[in-house]
Amino acid sequence: MAMNIKRPNGTEDVLPKDVHKWLTVEKITRETAESFGFEEIRIPTFENTDLFMRSVGETTDVVQKEMYTVMAKETKFTLRPEGTAGTIRAMLQNGLLNEAMPQRVFYILSCFRHERPQAGRLREFHQFGLEMAGSASPCADAEVISLAKTILNRLGLKNIELYINSIGCPDCRKKYHEALRAYFENRKDELCETCMTRLEKNPMRILDCKSPICGEIAKDAPLIIDYLCDECSEHFEKLQKYLTKLGIEYKINPKIVRGLDYYTKTVFEFVTTEIGAQGTVCGGGRYDGLIEQLGGQHVPALGFAMGIERLLITMEKQGCDYLTPKKCDIYFATMGDDALEKAMMLAKELREFGYRAEYDVVGRGLKAQMKYANKIGAAFTMVLGDNELAEASAKLKDMESGKEVVLKLDEKFSGNFDSVYIDKMLDGLEEAAASMTEGHEHGHDCNCGCKEDCCNG
Ligand code: ATP
Ligand code: MG
Repeated sequence: MAMNIKRPNGTEDVLPKDVHKWLTVEKITRETAESFGFEEIRIPTFENTDLFMRSVGETTDVVQKEMYTVMAKETKFTLRPEGTAGTIRAMLQNGLLNEAMPQRVFYILSCFRHERPQAGRLREFHQFGLEMAGSASPCADAEVISLAKTILNRLGLKNIELYINSIGCPDCRKKYHEALRAYFENRKDELCETCMTRLEKNPMRILDCKSPICGEIAKDAPLIIDYLCDECSEHFEKLQKYLTKLGIEYKINPKIVRGLDYYTKTVFEFVTTEIGAQGTVCGGGRYDGLIEQLGGQHVPALGFAMGIERLLITMEKQGCDYLTPKKCDIYFATMGDDALEKAMMLAKELREFGYRAEYDVVGRGLKAQMKYANKIGAAFTMVLGDNELAEASAKLKDMESGKEVVLKLDEKFSGNFDSVYIDKMLDGLEEAAASMTEGHEHGHDCNCGCKEDCCNG
């Protein structure tokens, strides 16, 4: 039977040749978060649907149009469309919010939203995100924004603008909602169907509508920033002061309201114009009311999430570096069953030392095995046959330089391989250093260690 089942629309396969790119992002995000005192949390892929209705908000696109909800027996579950709701639920359920504040957690997870698939917009996508609970201070806002910025820098990304805004607290929001209702009243018949219902329930959502007509109508809508209460204004001012202190450039964008209902005060986005329409690589903000809304005490909190696919598209576009993918260190090409058994034992030993060792498991001829070793980019090869076994030694070939050395196949084998391997690495380093010395310009603060007069090294 022909196998023609394809992956679902809006999902992606990550092939082995690309996994190192994902590992790069995962490593840098994880290590940066840890350096800011965040610890990893892992939460379920699905939650009770009510969790998202109550946190993300019933009038948001995510809840109204994008959730994957399944009925399993009598219970309704939803595949997580984002990480915050489940994370806060887990923190509450496991008593983390009764411990020393602030509580800081991060996660790397998949999210599911039923959207129209496009470049940078998938139905299954991945986020690196974090949440900090227990601080109402604007310095916490500056801290998480600075963390996001550090990640983008460490990934090697450039030209990513930071936009910030404040959407105030429920008090400011009340006055603002009235102003919005008054503004949209005249043209309410032209709004899309969803926005018509939003006008009553949550008019700020109209500003986030993706329909061009609603966008056009909303063009001159009143701005939340003009309706902030004293406390929210002061919070926003202080955040800006801290960002400036940290040397983080930002622009105020009074139009950012974010797509999820739980935000209060600070909201922010990091946006690139280099990857088309889906250019928001990171979005976040403060959600001081969410924990209470989910049944906890009043605990101010904030966080952000980065879309990993969008980060990767931008990194590709900008030619960023990735961690070097691990390749085969040594490939044993074997002739005959005794040689194969020897290769098994030698590979086993080298793997204990952390090397990536391979041998033929397909039963190919010698020529085909060498071709394969080349194809996988093995650093060294060793041919084992009757002669090598009889002499208890074999030639180790450096595939890059073609140099060969004879190694004894005795109990010192792995130690000897180690020395050859380390020599090769040192040669590589020396070459790299030599080319740097030749290639760079000497100046009075040059410390390269060369013999030029100007060198302090
Ligand atoms: P957008 O306005 O692009 O729909 P959003 O406001 O819905 O984004 P958030 O819920 O804040 O996005 O999610 C945080 C980040 O996750 C986004 O900034 C983006 O990088 C990424 N993201 C969101 N939805 C998708 C998706 N469908 N496919 C890929 N990445 C996504
Ligand atoms: Mg969205």
